[in-house]
Amino acid sequence: MNHRFLSIVGLATTMALAGGCATNKEAPSVSKTSDTTIAEAQTDVPVWAPKKHAFNPSRTRVHDLLHTTLRVSFDWQKQHLNGIAELTLKPYFYPQKTLVLDAKGFDIKSVYLLKGNDGTQLKYAYDGMKLTIDLDRTYNRDEKYTIEINYTAKPNELAAGGSDAITQDKGLYFINLLGEDPNKPRQIWTQGETEASSAWFPTIDAPNERMTQDIYITIDKNFTTLSNGTFVYSRQNADGTKTDYWKQELPHAPYLAMMAIGEYAVVKDKWRNLEVNYYVEPEYKNTAKKVFGNTPEMMEFFSKKLGVNYPWAKYSQVVVRDFVSGAMENTSASTFMEDLQLNERELLDKNWDGIIAHELFHQWFGDLVTTESWANLPLNEAFANYSEYLWAEHKYGADEAAYAQMDELSQYLEEAQTKREPIIRYHYGDKEEMFDSHSYAKGGRILHMLRKLVGDEAFYASLNYYLTKNKFSDVEVAELRMAFEDVTGEDLMWFFDQWFMKPGHPELKVDHSYQNGQLTLRVQQLQDTTYMPVYRLPLEISVWASGKRTNHPIEITKADQTFTFPVATQPELVLFDGEQQLLAVVEHNKSAEELRYQFYNSKQLIPEFEALTKLAEKPAQELKLIQDALSNDYWFIRSTALNALADYKPENNAALVSKVEQVAKTDKKGTVRADAVYLLAGWGGDKYKPLFEAALNDSSYHVVAAGIIAYAATGAEDAMQKLSRFEKEKNENVVTALSSYYAMQAGPEKYDWFMNKIKQSKGSGLYYLLQSFSAYLASNNETNKPETIALLTNLAQNHNLYYVRMAAFQSLMVMSDQPGVAEKLQEIRAQEKDKRLIDMYKQALEQ
Ligand SMILES: [Zn+2]
Repeated sequence: MNHRFLSIVGLATTMALAGGCATNKEAPSVSKTSDTTIAEAQTDVPVWAPKKHAFNPSRTRVHDLLHTTLRVSFDWQKQHLNGIAELTLKPYFYPQKTLVLDAKGFDIKSVYLLKGNDGTQLKYAYDGMKLTIDLDRTYNRDEKYTIEINYTAKPNELAAGGSDAITQDKGLYFINLLGEDPNKPRQIWTQGETEASSAWFPTIDAPNERMTQDIYITIDKNFTTLSNGTFVYSRQNADGTKTDYWKQELPHAPYLAMMAIGEYAVVKDKWRNLEVNYYVEPEYKNTAKKVFGNTPEMMEFFSKKLGVNYPWAKYSQVVVRDFVSGAMENTSASTFMEDLQLNERELLDKNWDGIIAHELFHQWFGDLVTTESWANLPLNEAFANYSEYLWAEHKYGADEAAYAQMDELSQYLEEAQTKREPIIRYHYGDKEEMFDSHSYAKGGRILHMLRKLVGDEAFYASLNYYLTKNKFSDVEVAELRMAFEDVTGEDLMWFFDQWFMKPGHPELKVDHSYQNGQLTLRVQQLQDTTYMPVYRLPLEISVWASGKRTNHPIEITKADQTFTFPVATQPELVLFDGEQQLLAVVEHNKSAEELRYQFYNSKQLIPEFEALTKLAEKPAQELKLIQDALSNDYWFIRSTALNALADYKPENNAALVSKVEQVAKTDKKGTVRADAVYLLAGWGGDKYKPLFEAALNDSSYHVVAAGIIAYAATGAEDAMQKLSRFEKEKNENVVTALSSYYAMQAGPEKYDWFMNKIKQSKGSGLYYLLQSFSAYLASNNETNKPETIALLTNLAQNHNLYYVRMAAFQSLMVMSDQPGVAEKLQEIRAQEKDKRLIDMYKQALEQ
């Protein structure tokens, strides 16, 4: 599962009715805020202190589910699945006479014990969540038996749950089946993790269960189906439907079972002799290979590095509408959110390699070897997260990999402000809490430290051993540790204990001094050791003296420790953790001179970035360095330099202005050109009007969006007329930019444009558009019409994405003085099943 996209949207946010966020260039960035800080600061317990809930054990293995055969068809009107499930089981160890299955919200029609072609009806009890079946006799562990359950699944009638990573847990989703929305294809898809497969078939819904599976899907013959494993055949039925048969021959966990059904274009690719297919909406047929086309190379890279070939019968990737997560690693058939469908021009600005690598790596870590319990989720997610680094390092080089590392660190540190838990967490409150930046970002960074600790050869040898030893089975963290210990011969309990089993991270204060040929380095661990350990940290100190770099390995083991090194001359730079591998907050005071040396000589992204950001706090004193940064090879440094100039007034600095103009026109990266356009807009519009006009014709949508904002900001009389030519554009950045301009400047004449765009937009784009619409409604009272209220009410009540429902609710709040709206808002609040929104709505309506 990939949660990044949604964690960015992570809410628990303000109900501020701001206009569109036009400068946002990625996904919604509604930031998490904590309203508990003030209240809790009055006690001695920090807000992030670990919370101890009850112990969560792994599921007891009572029966072993060996095989599942499903025959499914659909009632489109009722949005039901009609299923016949044949389950073959045996007692796990102890003799059993009762079988308990997970089956959420079904109508159970019959339960039979099958013997050849005969069946015996079995007695059962069903409480809506668990199906308890009385077997005809006691079975021993060497006796298999098969039962058949005839049932109807009714996912839309379940009470909703969910998490930041997976926004709903209905298991089975029907998208526009009756074709009521002309802007959406018709689709049916499933999402099993964590325990939602049992909302579409009866099973033992636990990650430590494994089964093989046959699925027969009966559907209108215009649809394409996808499921796990091999496509065996498609049979035409007399009633105009067809039945597609998919066979998963190797065992996998029930949460990894999947179906996706839609009107798809299937773009074929291959790795070695395996089929690699990309399922996209027909409109994206020609660009699917440009989005997903690195998959075979990734499969080769990961197979070779791990020494374990990609384990499944094929690899397919399917894009679905209104997905409840970023993506999901179903065995041999990963599902992705619709944002992965890009047109040629969008491809200039964006690649999705990270998320593609993430789901692919799960096929080993998660699918072949599966976490035993949700408490051990990092055994799935830390690896998938780290694969993004591995791929970036291999394909795009050290800077891109380091950028991924920085991103992970900031995600984790942001979360650590309010939450510090051990990443292996037996005492979570709710299993969905496990899908956080501890399991993902921190987990990935820990694996990187483990790799640096044991070395590349031992790292991959240990992973090979771990995968080979545990394939088709489930694991807890001790099994990972023991694999590394068996291979390296070292006792690694200390490493696993401090990083996997304890909360928090090192907070280090580093000071250095030089005297008489000796460099002295003092390292203090300042983290609160009531909750966090004193860390053992092996790392390198890099020292530049007389222009030459030397690396000194040290091992920090104490809360306050001093190291000395012989160094012949006064060093130009002392760089703590020369490899930049440590997950920590490090405060190391350096002079401006040292930082300048670091910027020009470290040749590593993170130290360059650190030096640039510190020095750029006083941009007027560092103009040469900032200007040099604008020519850096790596885009993020150029972008950082531009952002550093936001508060600087260039006045008569013609050279700098001309450099920024040059970046705006010619930088090879669209986002950097866009940043330069935004900077020039902030520096005082009119002068650069021709440049902004040129930006409107740029190939990159990011630059066009920046051009729209910048041109509008000049106050040019022809702005409305000039910018209206983008009204037909579908790209999210452009629509967001135009909508934020219209929100502030346009009158009732743009009402239809807003309404049409809202109907056509999706996902994060729709979220931003609704934000702009709120501001537009606030200044255009006459547009508060019944049809506006109806459209927003429908979105607030029925949209699959909780943040879209929330944005629609916010727009309605702007109109709360209109007749009937206050009642609608209460109605929406009463119907909302998502806990996060319920709390938010309560606050908003009770203010
Ligand atoms: Zn994942």
